[in-house]
Amino acid sequence: MNIRYEGENIEYSVIQSRRKTIAISIDPHQKILVKAPVQISHDEIQKIVEKKAGWIVKKRKELAKYQPQKEPQELADGRQLWYQGNPYVLQILTKADTKQENSGRNVELSAGKLKVYTEQGQEAEVRQNLMQWYYEQAGQWICQRVEHYNEDLKEPVNRICIKDQKSRWGSCSSKRNLNFNWRIIMAPKEVADYVVVHEMCHLRHLNHSPEFWREVAGILPDYKERRKWLREHGAELMKKI
Ligand SMILES: [Zn+2]
Repeated sequence: MNIRYEGENIEYSVIQSRRKTIAISIDPHQKILVKAPVQISHDEIQKIVEKKAGWIVKKRKELAKYQPQKEPQELADGRQLWYQGNPYVLQILTKADTKQENSGRNVELSAGKLKVYTEQGQEAEVRQNLMQWYYEQAGQWICQRVEHYNEDLKEPVNRICIKDQKSRWGSCSSKRNLNFNWRIIMAPKEVADYVVVHEMCHLRHLNHSPEFWREVAGILPDYKERRKWLREHGAELMKKI
């Protein structure tokens, strides 16, 4: 179904069920879904969509902004970077402007800033130091979480790998190897935990069967909320650094 609003075409799907209220939602691909009670007619639904058209158009524009960019963004001062669900402003420092010691670390988080120490401040060096740090943080945190969840799950793990993947957050092989995208260290901890638990539950069920999801829900009863965050914001985190 579709309507026109200020020259724009708004296409939407309708699912009617035994619910009591109407809900309009937009997914990251800008598809519009209307959930409505069975007794409401399509004309009535259309009127409601028309009333909401302004909001829909605005929301679509917002979503369009967050589509993954094709070109890698520059790694320069002021660039926003994520770490465990919080945004930080990149600050590039060189040996010349850092007189005091930084305890030997190349990357430091402090007061909303993600400081990268370099020799000369060139982008390639910034990227290398930053990536190394992200990988290390991801590796340490993920291993800790796997250990934590394995106190109850008690599933043998062969190997944990941190990978650079463009579209996957994690995977689990039949050889009991767990693979994780380093980018989950950019997501909020609850969301990253969901990815860890999801892959660990594949150690028991190498599929997405109802048993698998029951296992996930047994550990994280609110996993759907966490998964929703990933669906809504994952593309943003998948942007190239
Ligand atoms: Zn899975």
